Amino acid sequence: MIENLTIENFLEKLKNKEFSAKEFFEKLFEKIEKEDKEIEAFLSLNKEEALKSAEKIDELISKKEKLPPLCGVPCAIKDNILVEGLKCTAGSKILAPPENILGGYVAPFDATVIKKLKKAGAIIVGKTNLDEFAMGSSTEYSAFKITRNPHDPERVPGGSSGGSAAAVAKNFCLFSLGSDTGGSIRQPAGFCKVVGLKPTYGAVSRFGLIAFASSLDQIGPMTKNVRDCEIVFEIIKGKDPLDSTSVEIEKKFEEKKEIKVGIPKEYLVEGIEPEVKSAFESAVKKFQEKGVKFEEISLPHTEYALPCYYIIACAEASSNLARYDGLRYGNFCEGKDIFDTYSKTRALFGKEVKRRIILGTFVLSAGYYEAFYLKAQKVRRKIKEDFERAFEKVDLIFTPVSPTLPFKIGEKITDPLKMYLSDIFTVSVNLAGVPAISIPIENLPVGLQIIGPHFSESKIFETAKLYERN
Ligand code: GLN
Repeated sequence: MIENLTIENFLEKLKNKEFSAKEFFEKLFEKIEKEDKEIEAFLSLNKEEALKSAEKIDELISKKEKLPPLCGVPCAIKDNILVEGLKCTAGSKILAPPENILGGYVAPFDATVIKKLKKAGAIIVGKTNLDEFAMGSSTEYSAFKITRNPHDPERVPGGSSGGSAAAVAKNFCLFSLGSDTGGSIRQPAGFCKVVGLKPTYGAVSRFGLIAFASSLDQIGPMTKNVRDCEIVFEIIKGKDPLDSTSVEIEKKFEEKKEIKVGIPKEYLVEGIEPEVKSAFESAVKKFQEKGVKFEEISLPHTEYALPCYYIIACAEASSNLARYDGLRYGNFCEGKDIFDTYSKTRALFGKEVKRRIILGTFVLSAGYYEAFYLKAQKVRRKIKEDFERAFEKVDLIFTPVSPTLPFKIGEKITDPLKMYLSDIFTVSVNLAGVPAISIPIENLPVGLQIIGPHFSESKIFETAKLYERN
């Protein structure tokens, strides 16, 4: 029954007692236990707690008490976001012993987004699979399992929030949370035909998110449609005293009759699969029929975005991941002296994570800092200015989310550069700190990316809804 439900009709049916929360969740877990064997979206389930919370929701309803806004809504959480009392692995053996995932790191507190969701009455079904420390584009770099694309199990669901995207696509929940550092919400949303929002940097608190690259990371919702995405975003956004980079959204966007959209000429070039290009063009046509005006624009520094991203992201990751020394968090492998202990413990990191720590340490080291890190920061400014200039002329920017359709499991895992190319259309958005949504188009596993100026989420939602209203 969850198949046909959106958040709003779930709430209505629950209030009208068409089903009880308890029976809904019992059926939901039956479904997950049966169907997730094929997909492996989840790393762990939260069944007992979820059923208890469902009973509480039923009590509230029978007492006719005022109901919270996400009363009983089932959600799934990427396993790099802390939920008090639940283990949190970030997809890494360093936070969970290899032989026994049950014994790993247990979160001692809730992330701010989780506090907000719990207060709003949402019920957490489980924690979803991801690339180790959110580094990857296919969920194949998880230390524990490979998540499969629900629309074609031979293919990847995208990443790094592949588990969260697959959980929504398989109707294991009504929404999930992912994190996006360079595309990890939008690209898997596209590959799994769901909606995913990377909010403006600072719009959502990062407190309790396991850090990858702190100047780029954002938590965001993944849902079946745009309205649900808006509902969840409204709950999780806002200033948090525990994250000094978070802010309140105050900006109001004037209601304009005509929406002007720019298509950057740098994005529709070589390397893009013909199916992606034609899906993008038909989506644009649909928007034109609804009165949206298009023009070609230029984001001239696009070609430098990928190298710039990988320098900055790896530099920040090398610093953030220094805390996993076996002494403070998670796993610990005792060696004969302190150096041996460090190296044995840190050998638990996977190949991709090690590659990034080494690259990050290199670009920050004396003699190379100016040549790489500082240069990348200057390029980042140029990329941000490209967007500022573009938004003087147009309200929004449209691009495809990724240059290809979902690739086969194993296809890119041995070639990191090929894997990095999956992010070519998404990383600029994180470097500039602006918001962007991915919406499914033309019934293909590819997303349309709608990018807006800082804090223009409401405008993005309003425009994305035009496509759904067929
Ligand atoms: N795929 C990109 C990377 O590997 C982005 C990851 C992310 O957004 N977390 O860095």
